[in-house]
Amino acid sequence: MSAQAKTNGSKPNGAGARQAASEMRTVTILGATGSIGCSTLDIIAHHPDRFAVEALTANRKVNQLAAQARTVRAKRAVICDPDRYGDLKEALSGSGIKAAAGPEAVIEAADGDADLVMAGIVGAAGLAPTLAAARRGAVVALANKETLVCAGALFMAEVAQSGATLLPVDSEHNAIFQVFDEHRPEGVEKLILTASGGPLRTRTLEEMRGVTPEQAVAHPNWSMGAKISVDSATMMNKGLELIEAHHLFQMPEPRIEILVHPQSVIHSMVAYIDGSVLAQLGAPDMRTPIAYALAWPDRVNAPVVRLDLAKIGQLTFEAPDPVRFPALRLAREALCRGGTAPTVLNAANEVAVEAFLARRIGFTDIAHIVESTLEAVDARPVSSVQEVIAIDGEARRHAQGSLARFTGAAATA
Ligand code: NAD
Ligand code: MG
Repeated sequence: MSAQAKTNGSKPNGAGARQAASEMRTVTILGATGSIGCSTLDIIAHHPDRFAVEALTANRKVNQLAAQARTVRAKRAVICDPDRYGDLKEALSGSGIKAAAGPEAVIEAADGDADLVMAGIVGAAGLAPTLAAARRGAVVALANKETLVCAGALFMAEVAQSGATLLPVDSEHNAIFQVFDEHRPEGVEKLILTASGGPLRTRTLEEMRGVTPEQAVAHPNWSMGAKISVDSATMMNKGLELIEAHHLFQMPEPRIEILVHPQSVIHSMVAYIDGSVLAQLGAPDMRTPIAYALAWPDRVNAPVVRLDLAKIGQLTFEAPDPVRFPALRLAREALCRGGTAPTVLNAANEVAVEAFLARRIGFTDIAHIVESTLEAVDARPVSSVQEVIAIDGEARRHAQGSLARFTGAAATA
């Protein structure tokens, strides 16, 4: 892990100061109504003696948010869409739970008192609240990989400065975190990020052109939100994870390998200079890395299916295909160019994925839009979050503008 993460485990600093293992930990969940948010609430429900909920946030789903807040007796519920404040207040009436609305209120929730903040918002929208949690030195359980893709160096600098504890939730990075010798990083030769290959692993390029949103989100192993499911199908998810790993573990791009492993049993590996390779294995269920992050440095029981390797029988591996999955090359190039290039990559990808899900463009257009946006928007050094937000906006406008060139190629169900 980054120098920050594990070393903070033994050094009391920030809100990440290690509590005694059995102490109650208060948790705020950003993106409570999503896939990561619901899995986090499930682990919390199994351990009422260990975790109490401070605040829950969501984008628009008022009724789900209010029901969740009532169930876990959260102190506060925040809806990002300001127009839904009245509905939230009504849905929470008589519960004693405070209601708030708007993007600023989401940031305030992250900035509040919770010991641990689960960063489970999807996309660059998660940057500001996740940053607020890091700045106040909280324990940040990071699922929102886009924060590191669009502002990795700045975010890691904030973590270092505040003494926040950063715990990776993304299964690959959580796996690496578990087997990375942070006391002797010089012994690490490379990181091996495993990838399922997604639902289109065996499709031809021709077949990929006609893929529908329904086919793209039908992941063979993992149940996830729509955006990350499409990212898995294009393998942009692995590209984003490459950039995420680079920042979390301070690993240069050439020393991060991507390996397709269709069973999703080995969640990633660390190769050492003596030829040893350490791996973390588990069922493909996000509740394992979530439980790990919530309880760290302890472990708590997670209600997941246990691995039965005899039943699985075979674990297989293959190299990723750069022709059918150009997103991998685009992410590597963006990381190498540095500065604002990963911000542009991420923003263009978010626009293109949304357009694909809305059936405005075809599946293979996603990578084309990302590539043309990277070519059109100059990469430049970045020194502030304001600059990141500005370049994110510029890239989005450019990607939106280029959609028209592709509209019409969308596949129908
Ligand atoms: P999701 O779409 O299921 O949920 C997203 C959550 O974010 C929802 O609660 C939604 O209300 C909230 N949200 C969306 N836009 C928002 C905005 N503009 N402002 C405030 N809140 C907003 O997504 P997910 O699959 O849970 O993924 C969340 C994050 O975790 C992503 O960054 C994803 O890459 C990462 N991740 C997810 C998984 C997984 O298994 N789902 C695994 C690894 C990493
Ligand atoms: Mg992952």
